[in-house]
Amino acid sequence: MKVGVVALQGDVEEHAEAFRKAAAELGIAVEVLEVKKPRQLEDVKALALTGGESTTIGILAKRAGLIEPLRKAAEGGLPTLGTCAGAVLLAKEVRDAVVGETGQPTIGVMDIAVVRNAFGRQRESFEAELEVEGFGKIRAVFIRAPAVVKAWGSAKPLAPVRHASLGLIYTAAVEGNILATAFHPELTTTAFHRRVLEMALGKA
Ligand code: GLN
Repeated sequence: MKVGVVALQGDVEEHAEAFRKAAAELGIAVEVLEVKKPRQLEDVKALALTGGESTTIGILAKRAGLIEPLRKAAEGGLPTLGTCAGAVLLAKEVRDAVVGETGQPTIGVMDIAVVRNAFGRQRESFEAELEVEGFGKIRAVFIRAPAVVKAWGSAKPLAPVRHASLGLIYTAAVEGNILATAFHPELTTTAFHRRVLEMALGKA
């Protein structure tokens, strides 16, 4: 089975490795494609959007003509995981904790609102043990992470956390075939990649 990692910027290799490990655990073989062009999306049965810098990824995706094909693929049921910057790109509403409106290009397929860079200076990077409903206990790495501040429609917010100024926020969300995490599961666990592979196999 071919799976894709959108390879414009960010931690592409970590996602590729997480897909390979998750596939090995499931006893299946995957070939990981680095997706840079729209037509490569036609071949893949599951997709990951990397962590990195969502503005950069959005601008590069727009330049590559990938925004609309990515939106269509996710809306058409392609099992899709977006982590950190990837989660920002999937959200329908985005603002930045410091600059507010960003006007950045996004894919915008999940009924969630995110605040970019929601965790202030001294906590720009941190790790926490999180209980994520349906995924168990996860060692979660947050790097200049966004917060999910609202979910509506069929999006289900997961892993609530109390945030010093934003109040109750969420660190992950799921909406049908689309999964978003504010943290970087690709660095610590195969659970999320396994889930999109299982969706692709029709088992989740
Ligand atoms: N702060 C970044 C953004 O909003 C995300 C950081 C990350 O992916 N680790 O794009």
